[in-house]
Amino acid sequence: MAWTLEQLNAASPAEALQMLDGLYEHSPWIAEAALQLRPFRSLAQLKYAMVQVLNGAGVERQLELIRAHPELAGKAMVAQALTAESTNEQSQAGLTHCTPEEFARIQQLNTDYNARFGFPFILAVRGPRGTGLSRQEIIATFARRLSNHPDFERAEALRNIHRIAEIRLNDKFGAEPVLGNDVWDWHERLAQHSDPGYAEKGQLTVTYLTDAHRACAQRISHWMRDCGFDEVEIDAVGNVVGRYKPATPDGKYLMTGSHYDTVRNGGKYDGRLGIFVPMACVRELHRQAKRLPFGIEVVAFAEEEGQRYKATFLGSGALIGDFRNEWLDQKDADGIPMREAMQHAGLCIGDIPKLRRDAARYLGFIEVHIEQGPVLNELDIPLGVVTSINGGVRYVCEMLGMASHAGTTPMDRRRDAALGVAELALYMEQRAARDGDSVATIGMLQVPGGSINVVPGKCSFSMDMRAPTDAQRDAMVADVLAQLEEIAQRRGLQYKAELAMKVAAAPSAPAWQHRWEKAVDALGVPVYRMPSGAGHDAMKLHEIMPQAMLFVRGLHGGISHNPLESSTADDIQLAVDAFSHVLQQLAAE
Ligand SMILES: [Zn+2]
Repeated sequence: MAWTLEQLNAASPAEALQMLDGLYEHSPWIAEAALQLRPFRSLAQLKYAMVQVLNGAGVERQLELIRAHPELAGKAMVAQALTAESTNEQSQAGLTHCTPEEFARIQQLNTDYNARFGFPFILAVRGPRGTGLSRQEIIATFARRLSNHPDFERAEALRNIHRIAEIRLNDKFGAEPVLGNDVWDWHERLAQHSDPGYAEKGQLTVTYLTDAHRACAQRISHWMRDCGFDEVEIDAVGNVVGRYKPATPDGKYLMTGSHYDTVRNGGKYDGRLGIFVPMACVRELHRQAKRLPFGIEVVAFAEEEGQRYKATFLGSGALIGDFRNEWLDQKDADGIPMREAMQHAGLCIGDIPKLRRDAARYLGFIEVHIEQGPVLNELDIPLGVVTSINGGVRYVCEMLGMASHAGTTPMDRRRDAALGVAELALYMEQRAARDGDSVATIGMLQVPGGSINVVPGKCSFSMDMRAPTDAQRDAMVADVLAQLEEIAQRRGLQYKAELAMKVAAAPSAPAWQHRWEKAVDALGVPVYRMPSGAGHDAMKLHEIMPQAMLFVRGLHGGISHNPLESSTADDIQLAVDAFSHVLQQLAAE
């Protein structure tokens, strides 16, 4: 029989502790301390309370807990000496049915891992979906984590322990993230489509208007129809647009969505999460035969990543009238012009201007996106409310000095171009850090035609600087350019700095950011505000209507643009719940 949260809140301390028995391996003190914070509004709140207890317990107690875990498919499993929970998990993961080779490999990994870190390898073997990782996935993860930095790996072990506790808690309370699971499954199924050259290697790559890309559009459109959208169409640039009508024909629309194209060898969740989360919400409305005072327009943007053609944000750009005709003549790596690719896909190029939306007919734009960074993962917080999408500038630069003999030119007579840039790079590092939430990067740094025995006479480099507001960014840029001038003067160097890109910051509309905050708070999880370091479709819609974004925690240090990108069904469920809450708020306003 499953417990309910009401029963837990009403139970005596001893009974309540008994109800949470076995969540953390041989460590009832974690649940005991968390239970002091009763009553809980949600299981998510209880989970976070336990996370807080362990995070505040200090490294010694954390290590004690980690060491209380059995080795994966280790001696304790063989001797059948595991706790009931561990036995269940290890056998569900098929670890009790390893081939002799797999068993030997795991034993070797156990030995190597223990020697490197001094504690057993811990993995939530039921995985992000809760249904179990395959033995191959387990072994691959084991091998990969062996090369982590010890501090990171200890934190990763704790995160896996929290995930194990989350799944055990769900089991005890019969709490299944049903919608989170569905959304998770949509990602898996859509990821079956990948461009040639990548599909064969099991990698995900979906670039603008390839066969795989068009297959994705078809799938999304069919799923939208299944979900109960009233109108579904693929528009003139390949966006899939689903509309769920308002209660009355004069009702405005809420626009939401994200992109379905990917980078090369990318992750399954980047962009797509922002399509599937609202789809699940619309499906619930349709199932309940419910109409809201406003309609919902979910747009699966065809192009955001600028991979096949240099036309980043093509999908969302088209909706604000920012489609540039010169893009049509751009050729991809195989020499195919965009115009031809669009004609081949049956898109009506002449209709692109008609895609421009009349902002007066919309309430605003919201976007759910996987964080694509380490912040939420590190803080053990499932959702993040975006305060602003950072504005950025890029410069392509060159420093000129004097190439001279590395042996005969004394240190005080040199005009070393590379050292000038090196000094600038260190300045940028500390200047950005001073703001707290600015970032500055020299991502390209070359000494063209350099030699081992020549003082660099020329150094080409790039600068990328971003901040949550344009003013903050411009102040940083001004300081960096002044420093560049000063360094050049002092070192007798000359430089060129050419502005290559400038994008305005897109601060969240306060009222919309507040709706996300209220929704997150209602779930019982902490409201964490953060800027978005990466650009998103919401930046484009920002130009014509209010917008605000919600981030969802990624696994594996929040890695993105990488096949390891992942998110749990539980976190995705929270995103669905938060989205539904925003819909309810809007309906009540
Ligand atoms: Zn994205």
